Amino acid sequence: MDQRRNHSIVWGLRNWIQLAVLVLTLGIGLQFYLFVRQAAGGGIITIARPAGVEGFLPIGALMGWKHFLATGEWDAIHPAAMVIMAFAGMMSFLFRKSFCSWFCPVGTLSEWLWKAGERLFGRNYRIPAWLDYPLRSLKYGLLLFFVYIIADMATADIALFLQSPYYRMADVKMLHFFTRMSQTTAIVLAVLLLLSLFFRNFWCRYLCPYGALMGILALCSPMKIRRNQTTCVQCQRCQQVCPAHLHVHLKERILSPECSGCMDCSGVCPVPDTLVMTSPGRRMGRLRVSWVALLVVALFLGTITWAKSSGHWESRLSPQEFRMALKKIDGAAMQHPSVQFGRQ
Ligand code: SF4
Ligand code: SF4
Repeated sequence: MDQRRNHSIVWGLRNWIQLAVLVLTLGIGLQFYLFVRQAAGGGIITIARPAGVEGFLPIGALMGWKHFLATGEWDAIHPAAMVIMAFAGMMSFLFRKSFCSWFCPVGTLSEWLWKAGERLFGRNYRIPAWLDYPLRSLKYGLLLFFVYIIADMATADIALFLQSPYYRMADVKMLHFFTRMSQTTAIVLAVLLLLSLFFRNFWCRYLCPYGALMGILALCSPMKIRRNQTTCVQCQRCQQVCPAHLHVHLKERILSPECSGCMDCSGVCPVPDTLVMTSPGRRMGRLRVSWVALLVVALFLGTITWAKSSGHWESRLSPQEFRMALKKIDGAAMQHPSVQFGRQ
């Protein structure tokens, strides 16, 4: 199979998975919106609450994991949040932060935006290195902040939070972030969208704490992009397409936590088997990207099937309990319980 065809397979597989996940996410968002609308009314609730919406509750997932590690108890209110975080972590560990480039819907939108910007303006722009480095550390700072707060909380306080009225409605509050968007939020989002047109993966590169966590997990990954220095012809195509602006053409191995395992560099390399993702002892062939795609899909389906069949997916909150809690969504009882924890 020639290199051009190999290239199209690389791009095609990843983009199809990204598109499928984005459509799935939009479908989940719509179903959750309709479910909440029905629950807010007085009639029978016929729409099921999609558990996948909990993928947007990463802080709750981190707390759930700390609580699970301390007590062995799985979060009963938003169990899918923990499952989705575990899936993202496994993916990133196995294939170099690949959750960000193969799966995350925000990563997909970011990628589409910078590619649209590239077409519109003929190029992407780069923030100078003296500013790029400190900006990149922002996402790690945010991650550290959340991890510190959660690590500092006593297990009993975490349990209290996970059962609090606030956390019961955390998914609805996330929905309200979009449906009741404040002017400030809208302006911030518009600025981020605009910046994403000019700079590759602006949100992911500088601000996403979830991506920072995936990057740290990827550092422990046995898989790496490796360049064969003997066969490399220094065409620099790999470096040009790299969304993380990594100097792929100069490195023997890509160790950076910014590498998202997209394999675009491997796809554009004109010399067969020169740029490949490798395990420590053995090279993956140039078509093995199809295995990455297959494993990503299998891991996703396997994780969700396991979670559903073992009772780790659906919330224990019944539709009636959800409706009762929803009625008080704007009340004082639904305020964030952090103040209460701070006093203890
Ligand atoms: S080094 Fe290759 S796999 Fe890693 S982000 Fe850059 S293009 Fe993607
Ligand atoms: S695309 Fe391949 S041949 Fe060209 S510089 Fe990168 S590794 Fe070398």
